[in-house]
Amino acid sequence: MKACLLHSIAPIEQNPLELIEAPTPQPGKNQILVKVGVCGVCRTDLHVIEGELAPQVLPIIPGHQIIGRVERIGEGAPRLKVGDRVGVPWLHRTDGVCEFCRAGQENLCEHATFTGWLVNGGYAEYAVAQADFVYPIPEVFNDEEAAPLLCAGIIGFRSMRLSGITGPSPGKRLGIYGFGAAAHIAIQVARHWGVDVYAFSRDERHRRFACDLGAVWAGGSDDDPSVKLDSAIIFAPAGGLVISALKVLKKGGCVALGGIHMSQIPPIDYNLLYHERVLRSVANNTRQDGLDFLRVAAEIPIKAQTQIFDLAEANAALNALKHDAVRGAAVLQI
Ligand SMILES: [Zn+2]
Ligand SMILES: [Zn+2]
Repeated sequence: MKACLLHSIAPIEQNPLELIEAPTPQPGKNQILVKVGVCGVCRTDLHVIEGELAPQVLPIIPGHQIIGRVERIGEGAPRLKVGDRVGVPWLHRTDGVCEFCRAGQENLCEHATFTGWLVNGGYAEYAVAQADFVYPIPEVFNDEEAAPLLCAGIIGFRSMRLSGITGPSPGKRLGIYGFGAAAHIAIQVARHWGVDVYAFSRDERHRRFACDLGAVWAGGSDDDPSVKLDSAIIFAPAGGLVISALKVLKKGGCVALGGIHMSQIPPIDYNLLYHERVLRSVANNTRQDGLDFLRVAAEIPIKAQTQIFDLAEANAALNALKHDAVRGAAVLQI
């Protein structure tokens, strides 16, 4: 099969992904082989490639927003049939027995493995997945629309829930910092729930994009929206934004950090946090988050805006992502 392989970490500007012929993997027990149709490109892929996420396995095939069809079924994976369309997400598998799994927090599992970081992912013609960890994809979405839902969408949804917006909340104000793939989906859920979205981005194109999608206000990260916000989500990986977000947060409000990596957070004046403001990170997601999000996404239905690249252009897609040049989500067509 054709696959984009990362041999060693390097800045994406050096085009470190190499398109090669690799052996097609075979599904083991409770696994399926998926023929990849498309694979979404996520900022986490960039963190894996550039080494902000310490490499655990090299070489590795990145990619964790896979939409494809079941090609082969391994022993003991009866829930699926050959030809079924599935989504393969970041959470490859959990142990199911640690204290976090038993407490319904499998996103924090002590022995979780992750697609495209600890096991090969979807920048390839085929990928192996755990049968119990793939999602059925609602009919209303075609492959390219569905791919960004799997990480950008689900993590954005969990971030919104953890920021305090858990359902319809007319008149609540949500700040979103960084207006890439996750934000452009999260805003659609927020508006569906009657929430007013305030978009903060360093990039003028992204501010316009946010307004096109219904943001009531858009500005730079330190601009003052002249109202206080109930909740904020920071998707951009810049620690300084924590201070910016706390400055415009209401008493009792919450800032959720949606990224897996962030540059150092500057010292926080206690007055910014006092009055029960909450600052919290978001780590991975549970399978239930994914199911809940896909149900809401199909109800709306979410329209993901995508920019399509060929598999051979994976380096170019990631370069564009790094430099804010993607409107919506980048997706590789396999
Ligand atoms: Zn566990
Ligand atoms: Zn991701």
